[in-house]
Amino acid sequence: MKTVLPGANLGVLGSGQLGRMFALAARRMGYRVHTFSPHAGTPAGQISDKEYQRSYEDLDAVREFARGVEVLTFEFENIPVATVEAASQFAPVHPSGAVLHTTQHRLREKTFLAAHGFPHAPFRRVASAEDLRASLDALGYPAVLKTAGFGYDGKGQLKISSQETIGQALAALGQREWVLEAFVDFEREVSVVAARGRSGEFADYGLIENEHRRHILDLSVAPAPNVPASLAHEAVEIARRVLETLDVVGVMCVEFFVTREGKLLINELAPRPHNSGHLTFDACVTSQFEQQLRAVCGLPLGSTALLSPAAAMANLLGDLWRAGEPDWRAACAFPDVKLHLYGKMEARAGRKMGHLTALAGSAEEAARTVLAARDALTPDSASIRV
Ligand code: AMP
Repeated sequence: MKTVLPGANLGVLGSGQLGRMFALAARRMGYRVHTFSPHAGTPAGQISDKEYQRSYEDLDAVREFARGVEVLTFEFENIPVATVEAASQFAPVHPSGAVLHTTQHRLREKTFLAAHGFPHAPFRRVASAEDLRASLDALGYPAVLKTAGFGYDGKGQLKISSQETIGQALAALGQREWVLEAFVDFEREVSVVAARGRSGEFADYGLIENEHRRHILDLSVAPAPNVPASLAHEAVEIARRVLETLDVVGVMCVEFFVTREGKLLINELAPRPHNSGHLTFDACVTSQFEQQLRAVCGLPLGSTALLSPAAAMANLLGDLWRAGEPDWRAACAFPDVKLHLYGKMEARAGRKMGHLTALAGSAEEAARTVLAARDALTPDSASIRV
């Protein structure tokens, strides 16, 4: 397969902030970007050369889109596999439809992890009230019920704390397929963002430590400050094996829980750049988005080295707009902080509107600085932090 060189048209399925940052990296290197999604004026579309506003189910439109580009990637894993298959008749899609098929559905993903001996929390498939009762008997309480498909950021999740609280879960079941997972009393959450090229070369960004609020990523810090080097090494080796086993070409994020006993359990795989890797945009020689581009185009992967000893990223959710437009000037007064806004028109609670990244001499200082910059956005803010 030939290398796709600068000047070529690249296709992106999906049009959110991940597509936007991919397009920024691509345009810097002289590529042209076409995006495809059901929406117009999107974060990615705003800075693309061409924005197709069509349904993912409109396979004729998907084929027409694919005819106009040399290679395709996606930035959103809930793209129907049929869409990727239709596109791949005209241009290669990386990662492949098979990777998407496995990772867009929790049950398939966990079955893959189990089949290949990757560490994960115990789980059961649930499709009926009897399944749910039997699975709770097997896994115990608390447990987390998650929709098998189309969930993200804690959407479609329900914690079941005791036998007395099973009613709500039973009411939610409906005709859908679910996964029941044992609740992990984790010490912390970490992730490995890594890339794999067309000839199997591998590059990782080391271990990143993540804090969530209300199931949404809030803060990421690299290198992970509270995890022993041996565990960080083990996480990277697990990620390497996951990317190899799935034959990923592109970027993938492997999210882990670190248990109180210091064991790693994979929580989730994302077959694309990840929110926890956003700090690589400003803090690494090659960002996760440029790395995605290099991998899918068949270029050599770039260095993942940090440009400063440490970096931190804080998400800017729509909640910050509650009392009006945030004070951007105040955040820009922090000279080591970079502001990213995704061009979204409407700030809704919980919606990812942008992020801040801080580069610093230590992980602690990076985290402190990025949180202080975020607090400065809303003068009476401490209460607004979500
Ligand atoms: P997910 O959408 O599965 O990544 O879940 C979002 C967040 O919910 C995770 O990052 C955790 O903070 C929390 N969570 C999900 N599953 C579990 C679990 N089995 N045990 C404990 N916390 C969980």
